[in-house]
Amino acid sequence: MSANPQAAPVLVVGGGIGGLTAALALSRKGIPVQVLEQAAEFKEIGAGIQLGPNVFRMFEVLGLTDAVFRWAAFPEALEMRDSMTGESVVEMRIDKLYDRYHAPYGVIHRADLLDRIHDACRGSNLIELLPSRKVVSIEDTGNGVTVHTEGGETYKGAALIGCDGLWSTVRQHIVGDGKPVVSGHIAYRAVLPTADWPKEYRLPKMIIWAGDKTHLVHYPLRRGELFNLVVVFHSDRYEEGWDSYGDPAELHERFSEKCEPVRTLLKKVNSWKMWVLCDRPPIKNWSKGRITLLGDAAHPMLQYLAQGACMAIEDAVCLANQIEAAGGDYATAFRKYQELRYLRTARVQIMARVYGEVYHANNVVRELRNKVLREWLAQGGVDMSWLYGEQPELPHVDSVPQPETTRLVS
Ligand SMILES: Cc1cc2nc3c(=O)[nH]c(=O)nc-3n(C[C@H](O)[C@H](O)[C@H](O)COP(=O)(O)OP(=O)(O)OC[C@H]3O[C@@H](n4cnc5c(N)ncnc54)[C@H](O)[C@@H]3O)c2cc1C
Repeated sequence: MSANPQAAPVLVVGGGIGGLTAALALSRKGIPVQVLEQAAEFKEIGAGIQLGPNVFRMFEVLGLTDAVFRWAAFPEALEMRDSMTGESVVEMRIDKLYDRYHAPYGVIHRADLLDRIHDACRGSNLIELLPSRKVVSIEDTGNGVTVHTEGGETYKGAALIGCDGLWSTVRQHIVGDGKPVVSGHIAYRAVLPTADWPKEYRLPKMIIWAGDKTHLVHYPLRRGELFNLVVVFHSDRYEEGWDSYGDPAELHERFSEKCEPVRTLLKKVNSWKMWVLCDRPPIKNWSKGRITLLGDAAHPMLQYLAQGACMAIEDAVCLANQIEAAGGDYATAFRKYQELRYLRTARVQIMARVYGEVYHANNVVRELRNKVLREWLAQGGVDMSWLYGEQPELPHVDSVPQPETTRLVS
């Protein structure tokens, strides 16, 4: 397809990581896009996210590698410790994943990632970014789509991609399956300057303290200038929510039986942001005519495999390729895109739940977990090719440049 800024745009509902990446990927194919975002700014809240080798291939396709490298951190290892006893269970060299996948494993602040994608979108004359537009209704008119916003505006486009996240309005139009599943797991997240993080833990590592319905993960962020903490525990006190503050008293109570280093590390943070973790069971059909879904709107998942944003970015690249291949026949492209994506994303949704069980195991199951993980490591580690390896529906990338491991000031 060739660039024609006069053509009817594709409407993207939601300007998070998925929506902005979709806009960028479509613009790279010469397709004009309007992004309707309910918030007043294109801005991420939250903390760090992990980026598997699979998503670095997509950054290469989208021309984002250099920008992401400048803001990311690249830890050397991932260590799991038992949060009840404090013992080290296994340690894997994640910098060595590069040798296998020709792409690195990194971590980045969500805001830094969104800013990089936003910068790239602003550099395209095919993308119109429209903040303060909360979409309240959509309709497929047969030869196009129309959306209405809360502010009373109407937008018309050739097709629509719902990138409006976990509580997607567009999903209700297509799937109509109501609210997401509340997992009963709560995440508290915080980011600290590295100077405020205890010296003995200023390591170029991701450390996960796992056990008994909780885990704590910490890792360096933003070239090693920041430290990221994520704490997850089970609680039935919350129904749903996003962007609210956590209660340190509840946190300390949930971790009162954990080993001393974990309790001490949690005291380093005074203010936590809270997320009520939800997902949905996988579905096969998330497109209808000229409307489709992408990212969390299509396949929300728990965060235990650290892949929700990575999947949204893969979706965007796959979708743009299918639109190009279908020569602008959106209904065909959307059907093909979901056919190519649903089993991969379903596997990640299901495996994320399984990993949650592994992290939060207790008593005999926890001991068994530790034993099995050590055995796996001794045999060469768990094969993650299904997740990090190249996928037939995504463009082949020979290799991504190899970054330096992030060094920390001790
Ligand atoms: C604790 C936690 C840790 C995580 N860690 C990782 C990780 O390590 N690695 C990883 O890859 N992923 C991780 N994720 C998952 C990742 O954050 C999500 O999968 C990702 O943000 C999904 O992006 P999205 O664009 O689909 O949805 P969102 O980020 O939710 O964006 C949706 C956008 O749509 C807008 N919107 C909603 N409704 C409307 C409307 N009606 N009209 C207009 N705009 C609307 C919203 O304002 C928002 O900007 C984690 C998630 C959590 C909760």
